[in-house]
Amino acid sequence: MRTIIGNWKMQLTIAEATQLAKDVAAALPKRLPDVRVAVCPSYAALSPVKDALGGSPVVLGAQDLCHEEKGAYTGEVSGRELADLGVKLVIIGHSERRSHVHEDDALIRAKVQRAFKNKMIPVLCVGETRDERDKGLRDVVVERQVRAALEGLDLPARGELVVAYEPVWVIGSGTAVDPEDAARSHYIIRETLRDSFSPETADRRCRVIYGGSVDKNNVGAFLARPVIDGVLVGGASLSAPEFTAIVEAARAADAKGAGRG
Ligand code: PEP
Repeated sequence: MRTIIGNWKMQLTIAEATQLAKDVAAALPKRLPDVRVAVCPSYAALSPVKDALGGSPVVLGAQDLCHEEKGAYTGEVSGRELADLGVKLVIIGHSERRSHVHEDDALIRAKVQRAFKNKMIPVLCVGETRDERDKGLRDVVVERQVRAALEGLDLPARGELVVAYEPVWVIGSGTAVDPEDAARSHYIIRETLRDSFSPETADRRCRVIYGGSVDKNNVGAFLARPVIDGVLVGGASLSAPEFTAIVEAARAADAKGAGRG
């Protein structure tokens, strides 16, 4: 089953986010047994988006969470609040947070742990910058980021982890990396997960998805690769027809038998 996640970032008003959620829910079938679909609005829009999704199979996600459970952390939002709101998965370590607010490996690891503690699925983002890629450091950076985020952590019973490979230099650029090139990073991430947990645990409970300028025209080429378990979509998730076309492409790829079960 593929995982398709829309990251709405800070692009919408609450009214726009609510309308988008309604449009996505209306355009998709009432049951989606063959694909997992999530949307991640900003904190302020979580509740109205949840209501707008109604009984739709689209899952509610968040874009971040606080690394601490509770306390004097002005401006932060805790994992338990998110869980209370019905949030099922949470993006952690997005490159925009690594660069704009200087999130480091230790903080990202604490957030992954916090998500697990609150029974949410962490969507851990990793990926190299253009400079790192040019220096031939892609493999090293990706492996290091995954290891650092998971160091000493166990997957909780029935817990799940999604790792999103997002080459920083293609995010929002309009041009995705070559799917074959992305597949190489996915292979490295999968092997790192197999080593960090166990091969069986990693293969059963971890998904590795691609993010970076995915749209309805290029998504099929990514999902045709069995090592790519889904996509994280930024810009193209802001249009209901575009996003639902991506979901339909994932369902079609699954029907063809590509990908992990
Ligand atoms: C993202 O920011 O996670 C992302 C994948 O953005 P875009 O699809 O716009 O490149």
